[in-house]
Amino acid sequence: MSKVVIVTGGARGIGAAISMLAAARGYAVCVNYQSNTAAAEEVVAEITASGGRAVAIKADVSKADDVARLFEESEQALGKVTALVNNAGITGRISRLDETDVETMQQTLDINVMGVMLCSREAVLRMSDKHGGAGGAIVSISSGAATLGSPGEFVWYAASKGAVDSFTLGLSKEVTGEGIRVNAVSPGLTETELHASGGEPGRVARLESVVPMGRAAAPEEIAQATMWLLSDEASYVSGAILRCAGGR
Ligand code: NAP
Repeated sequence: MSKVVIVTGGARGIGAAISMLAAARGYAVCVNYQSNTAAAEEVVAEITASGGRAVAIKADVSKADDVARLFEESEQALGKVTALVNNAGITGRISRLDETDVETMQQTLDINVMGVMLCSREAVLRMSDKHGGAGGAIVSISSGAATLGSPGEFVWYAASKGAVDSFTLGLSKEVTGEGIRVNAVSPGLTETELHASGGEPGRVARLESVVPMGRAAAPEEIAQATMWLLSDEASYVSGAILRCAGGR
């Protein structure tokens, strides 16, 4: 059976690195994105130029209708989905809780938590042998923030990733017996545009010294951990939350 992966937020940062590595490992890749069409088209062009198969599909993972359409269009373009990477995520603007508006907190939970649950639900409906599927694997990109708490930066974001961890544990127990392995990767500080989007482009430089390894991760290092969990090399791994945080 050919391997098909949907990577949410697969056009930039960690998601783009996962899309590229998945293609190199023989997956047909559905590169989901929310707004940056140019970035998505660039990733698809790079994959197809290297002889791979990819399609870019715009969909907001926090909206159930968009998510259903994402899976339908992906299946039409690439065939049955065998893997899902829940990567799309936001932090909201860096600040204390009492300086944060309700909309930022709500949007973060909608994308980081509802997005993961909606996409995983669609994947289970298609992959579970209970529904006639042939099995598969789900990896969600959590964050070391889930256990650090991120005080003074984005406690609502840390809470959203704590929810991703709980969801990963529960769903793995629910569907592993139906042929679906469910795991998470918890990255630490990683060099992407996420920090600038949160209002602090210099955040990586400010925090590198608190990482035992003394540096941020390259997105490709998070992609390696993710692809291992999706691969047959992790055939007995389900319900794991793999910290990939340079010792932090
Ligand atoms: P990034 O460079 O800011 O990229 C975020 C991606 O998510 C973009 O491709 C964006 O799409 C997409 N996205 C945002 N909202 C979306 C929505 N509603 N629907 C679909 N796609 C959406 O971030 P990153 O650093 O690569 O982060 C990727 C994941 O790693 C996130 O879950 C993040 O929480 C986690 N993480 C990051 C770090 C870090 O230090 N960077 C550390 C721990 C965990 P558009 O391009 O179309 O806007």
